[in-house]
Amino acid sequence: MNAPIIHIVTDEKTPRLEYVLDFMFNQVLQTPFRLHLSQSAEIPSENVIYYGKESPSQKIWIKAHPLLFDKSNDFVKFKTVNYQLFTYPFAVDKGGILPFDPFAIAFYFLSQYEEQTNKITLDEHQRFCVADSQIAPYIHYPMVDTICKVLKLRLMGLGVLFAKQENRYSFLPTFDIDIAYAHQAKSLKRHFLGTAKLGAKFKYKEFSERVCVWVGLKGDPYDVFDELLEVFDQHQVKALFFALMAKSGKYNNNNSIFSPLYHNLLKKLNQKQNVFLHSSFNTMDEPTLLIEEKKVLEKILNTEIKANRQHFLRFSLPEYWKMLIENNISNDHSQGFHDTWGYRCGTSFSHKAYDVKNDKVLPLMVHPFTFMDTALIKMCKDDVVKVHEIMIDIILDAKKDGIPCTGVWHNYAMPKGSLYLENFMDVLKYACL
Ligand SMILES: [Zn+2]
Repeated sequence: MNAPIIHIVTDEKTPRLEYVLDFMFNQVLQTPFRLHLSQSAEIPSENVIYYGKESPSQKIWIKAHPLLFDKSNDFVKFKTVNYQLFTYPFAVDKGGILPFDPFAIAFYFLSQYEEQTNKITLDEHQRFCVADSQIAPYIHYPMVDTICKVLKLRLMGLGVLFAKQENRYSFLPTFDIDIAYAHQAKSLKRHFLGTAKLGAKFKYKEFSERVCVWVGLKGDPYDVFDELLEVFDQHQVKALFFALMAKSGKYNNNNSIFSPLYHNLLKKLNQKQNVFLHSSFNTMDEPTLLIEEKKVLEKILNTEIKANRQHFLRFSLPEYWKMLIENNISNDHSQGFHDTWGYRCGTSFSHKAYDVKNDKVLPLMVHPFTFMDTALIKMCKDDVVKVHEIMIDIILDAKKDGIPCTGVWHNYAMPKGSLYLENFMDVLKYACL
């Protein structure tokens, strides 16, 4: 039997509406749909819903908030409404089958509308402060995925037929290589100065560790890459590594980009897994740095780099996405939070980026992540058990909801022999069960 088509009727087709319906029906709900203008003579009589501001003749009416028909990019202050034990944004007046507009909610989260309207609070690194934003109460829920489920249940209750939905849980571990090695692969000058500083400050433990690593008596504490490659093989899981290729600076503490040891590591990782770019802190202020960093990595790996994650997650939208597109990068992996966990785009599914100001879909895929190790470590005040609990809970929910889950780790935050390395191994085992 062919999958039933859902016919959505509206008075005006807008890029916003087409964008959000494409994602909700094709990507999340896996049900084919067709969008019709209400003036059209070819509207079928079965499986039809109407989306608009005014009461229509069709019986299933989703009352629209103005957001998807609006051509401006003004800041939108939404009203909330309680429905089935949850408070939803984008409340609408009585009349439709739901007391809120599910498509407006999905668009607002998916496009990261609030971040693009520039009325947001920024932190000391000019990053979006989610705690001060309108989406703050919702970030721990995949709002777009949830709203798809709520809409489906409501419509099915009214007799609308949907195609069968697959469980699409998957797990993607990703790593930001901010510092590949604690002591190795540093320029002789940095190495000497750092060692002298430790000696002068009487930091005996670090001083002796550095000397032991240097003379080959001990492995570098941050070099956990062989263990990682082995465990990925064991679980047959694909991982992504994002390598910082900046010239060293205040916020870019990577190893020397000229170090053969660093180059060999990246080549080894790229043989079995994927290595992409971790564009540096300063690219937000100096976009030309991005192409330099990309070229360095492309030369080392002898391949074209098509994906990126921004170091410190320091960017503003949509300028950052435009910078990637201009430099031929078509995948962004930066959309998550640096200081908490949650769903910055309201979904963990990959989706197209949307430029709110110009009202158009961008030729770039956004691959969101749900949690980052360093954010959780800070949130949990370095309590490894709590960090473990949160990661497992997130994965459990993703499995239950049938949605993907991506996490971000740093090798420097799980040094050899640490509880955080054990924690990672355990989380991975659970995630791959
Ligand atoms: Zn980083």
